[in-house]
Amino acid sequence: MTVGRANTGIVVVSHSVDLALAAVALAEEMLHGGEVGIEVAAGLQDGTFGTDAVRIADAIGRADRGAGVVVLMDLGSAVLSAELALDLMDDDARSHVLLCPAPLVEGLVVAAVTAASGAPPVEVAAEAIAALAGKRSQLDTPAPVAERSTSDGEVAAFTVRNRHGLHARPAALLVQAVRGLDAAVSLRNRSTGAAPVSAASLSAVATLGALTGHEIEVTASGAEARRAIDAVLALAADGFGENIDTAPARPAADPPPHAPGASPAAGGVTAVAVSPGVVVGPARPLGRRTIVIPDTPADEPADELRTLLDAVAEAGEEIRRLRARTAAELGEAEAAVFDAHLLLLDDPGLLDGARARIRAGEAAAPAWVAAIDAVEGAFADLPDSYQRARAADVAAVGMQVLGALTGDGDSAVEPGLDGVLIAPDLTPAQAAGLDPNRTLAVVLAAGSPTSHAAILVRARGIPLVVGAGERVLAVPPGAPVAVDGGTGEVVVDPGADVRIEFTRRATRLLARRDAAAEHANDPALTRDGVHVLVCANIGSPEQAEDAVAAGADGAGLVRTEFCFLDRDSAPDVDEQEAAYREIAEAMAGRRTTLRTLDVGGDKPLAYLPRPAEANPFLGVRGLRLALARPELLADQLLAIVRVAHDHPVDLMFPMVSTLDELFAARRALAAAVAADGRGEPAGLRVGIMVEVPAAALKAAAFAPHVDFLSIGTNDLTQYALAAERGNDALTALADPFDPGLLRLVAETGAVAGDDLLVAVCGEFAADERATGLLIGLGVRELSVAPTAVGIVKAAVRRVDAAAAAEPARRALTAPDAATVRALLRDTT
Ligand code: PEP
Ligand code: MG
Repeated sequence: MTVGRANTGIVVVSHSVDLALAAVALAEEMLHGGEVGIEVAAGLQDGTFGTDAVRIADAIGRADRGAGVVVLMDLGSAVLSAELALDLMDDDARSHVLLCPAPLVEGLVVAAVTAASGAPPVEVAAEAIAALAGKRSQLDTPAPVAERSTSDGEVAAFTVRNRHGLHARPAALLVQAVRGLDAAVSLRNRSTGAAPVSAASLSAVATLGALTGHEIEVTASGAEARRAIDAVLALAADGFGENIDTAPARPAADPPPHAPGASPAAGGVTAVAVSPGVVVGPARPLGRRTIVIPDTPADEPADELRTLLDAVAEAGEEIRRLRARTAAELGEAEAAVFDAHLLLLDDPGLLDGARARIRAGEAAAPAWVAAIDAVEGAFADLPDSYQRARAADVAAVGMQVLGALTGDGDSAVEPGLDGVLIAPDLTPAQAAGLDPNRTLAVVLAAGSPTSHAAILVRARGIPLVVGAGERVLAVPPGAPVAVDGGTGEVVVDPGADVRIEFTRRATRLLARRDAAAEHANDPALTRDGVHVLVCANIGSPEQAEDAVAAGADGAGLVRTEFCFLDRDSAPDVDEQEAAYREIAEAMAGRRTTLRTLDVGGDKPLAYLPRPAEANPFLGVRGLRLALARPELLADQLLAIVRVAHDHPVDLMFPMVSTLDELFAARRALAAAVAADGRGEPAGLRVGIMVEVPAAALKAAAFAPHVDFLSIGTNDLTQYALAAERGNDALTALADPFDPGLLRLVAETGAVAGDDLLVAVCGEFAADERATGLLIGLGVRELSVAPTAVGIVKAAVRRVDAAAAAEPARRALTAPDAATVRALLRDTT
């Protein structure tokens, strides 16, 4: 950037650093030595696309050399962020700044040339706005005047067909579709007559109370009004990506207290069963988290706003960290629950409420609390239980920002006595931090079975019931509580008969688990003597210790992403070697299957910015990304080769679709072996994950080139059934018992032999109902969470491998998943 005398300064605000720098370079070409101060405020701190008000304000400060500043923006939230940046400045500084609606590229070129001539900001902005004139006259298109001023707005309407109405996920799609466009879009629920809301705000859209069957009016104005309307209507026609045709009809109202999933408990409370397990233990009540808001007078509005934006940014970082940790520990599907929180943090609906209050003289913390309360209240008033449950997301995000504002940022459930955690509800952050060794069960007064917190508690294997009612909050600490997470029964202060019954249930369950644990270190042989390896899926060196303690025969899947997530740059070879070595040492001679980096479109890395993809799960992820970034793959393979010289290591490539990809990966491995200089490690075996249906169908073609095939049923299911994993609207569809998926497993299992091991490392491997089926289809290794190793080994021992082949064969021609399950029940 050329820094010059006191000409009008220019700030370029863009979602993309590359775009901004290229536009500046182009403009500077036109200056022919003229001098203008051009500053760039582009992208977010973590390298992803976005705009940031604080950065824009700083850039304006740098660009202002006394003659004023003209700000040019790309699209959508860039404008909002620039407006917010002005709020961050004092009145004097703000009076020198003009936000200019000119097109970014043409406008910048003209603005730079005009500014270099010494023109004041008003003239620079006017010239920039007229910058499209040349292009227009050449293309013979009408002047732009009509675009904005004559448009009272385009109007259209659609009928909501989604089972849960416009709940968080479809609402998020809608918001994303219109945010990037140069149009002001509002929505009105004609069926309820509610007032129009901005379509750019997730919180506002969700409060429309748009249920299935409701008619929603869309109004748009601005240059891209038509595009906005078309985009919304196209999304609506598509059911906002949900399977509206096969979705069961939505219940007319909230489930009655004794609906399926809710059961009465003698002398206790009614609750909804969410995660199985039986316990009787002391209550550990967790009151509502209270944060004391300091009663200090407000500073200048600009300072208070900056404080709030800093807190929002800090909360965003915490949520991203939590997301990364959850992804590494529990998987991407569970981690995706934090995405809605990130979207809410970026929601102008939340920020605008607080901003208005700060302008009126309030301090950041009380202004934020009031804004959050208003939005949370609007959600809580909605008639639909599913949509009402989203109030918890707003509250969780609100608390996280408030924690950052007041310095009371630790959202973890405070450690107390071990026992049954009783709480009004949990935030996802609290749920992600629960220790299954200390929390025997969780009883939530409110909560919903589909809440993010519920998903995380279940994923940690902790028994959970929700909707137990406010009464449970009165249970005194230490009082005995009986909980059956499989039936929903919660009995406070149980009588002798109830205690005996619950204890019996718990004992039966524990006996099964204990029996499994007792023999967990023994090999798992089927009744007819076939050895099936039961290994562990791990995502950290600590989990390697858990795996060995649980009796795992090896690590069947090491998600090496743990090394790469939550940091600013890629780990170098030495760092990776140390981490993999730590795992291999903990596995103490057992095979360690190191999967190369599986990130990409759906799991972006801050230091590997990639263009946005319309369908990230079908995009550049897994091995595709590794081959596109050969230096990254080369480092990882070198680290793995070094460890493989000292430990039994399996190397596994994820998301392989074609033989060519495998050959390219093998060439990269050969290069790593050459770089290491000690020849190929003796025990190194090479395999691929079978996650792409085409790879399963080509198993025979892959077979001569690998030592093992490991079926990743999590991804294979989503691709086979075209049902995005983690999309809770598609849970029923993404059923691994679907015969279509089983045929892909069978194709893969058919190539198993003495020299080729076929494994399953997706969640399906831990389902005891599927153990015989998988063995019958040729699978000889099951890799599961460390906690499931004992149970799965016990399940293997109940199977007769030879006899399992026949029901497995019949399952392949069954019409649906339910029939497969029935068939397996009848034959085992
Ligand atoms: C799978 O897809 O089944 C798998 C085990 O890989 P991940 O869950 O890490 O995508
Ligand atoms: Mg996978």
